[in-house]
Amino acid sequence: MSGKAAHILAVTNQKGGVGKTTTTVNLAAGLALLEQRVLLVDLDPQGNATMGSGVEKRDCQQTVYHVLLRQAVCRQVRRAAANGGYDILPANRDLAGAEVELVLEQGREGRLREALGTVAQEYDYILIDCPPALNLLTVNALAAADAVLIPMQCEYYALEGLSDLVNTVKRVKSSLNPAIEIEGLLRAMFDPRNTLAQQVSEQLKQHFGEKVYDTVIPRNVRVAEAPSYGMPVLVYDRHSKGAQAYMKLAEEIVGRRAGQH
Ligand code: ADP
Ligand code: MG
Repeated sequence: MSGKAAHILAVTNQKGGVGKTTTTVNLAAGLALLEQRVLLVDLDPQGNATMGSGVEKRDCQQTVYHVLLRQAVCRQVRRAAANGGYDILPANRDLAGAEVELVLEQGREGRLREALGTVAQEYDYILIDCPPALNLLTVNALAAADAVLIPMQCEYYALEGLSDLVNTVKRVKSSLNPAIEIEGLLRAMFDPRNTLAQQVSEQLKQHFGEKVYDTVIPRNVRVAEAPSYGMPVLVYDRHSKGAQAYMKLAEEIVGRRAGQH
């Protein structure tokens, strides 16, 4: 197959509960609705993106763990998400062991990059859902990615955590992956009536300028309900505020890329 390789986006923030998994799943579904070919890589041992895509993580004999350990290749392990129109490399608890098992391996930071290289021609976007830590799994994601998408909640300590993440991206850029960029910061679970959230949002724009996506994801109960049905909110209730916001994000991301070429 010919054609250019996928744009690989690592969805990352070492804080838990900021909307990484929700964003990865719904951006995958949104991009698929825009007729983009998408592979979602679940890189969190919690397997929330796997379950949220309607794939039972306990039934997965082979997962991204086996790919990282070179016990399987992407083509064997990937499967179609049950809902949402994209492919997924699933994860489950097995992945928690990967860090220890890779510790003595040469080039352990480059395993995901190597694996995704084998399927990158088949997709327009590859989205990696990172665990809530700056660990070897996250470093694998950053080494494999063209760019980083940072979802965040606009709360008091949010900016402090960002500097650790930005420094990690810089370190990866100077060693493993000179091409990596910060693609964008996403204000997720946003409550416009909250004055502090508005202030943090303003600070974010002052600091990061155009890197802050215009699209804001509101807090919306339908978004929180969807994973228990194994569906992106874009499938569960596509008229909800949350679904519409994620659709807008997919359009913004595709539009920005089109503008670069
Ligand atoms: P992370 O992957 O960063 O740990 P999640 O995407 O799992 O974060 O989100 C944490 C929790 O918040 C989940 O229960 C999720 O359903 C909920 N959530 C995420 N985004 C929204 C939203 N826009 N509105 C309401 N709930 C949300
Ligand atoms: Mg998550």
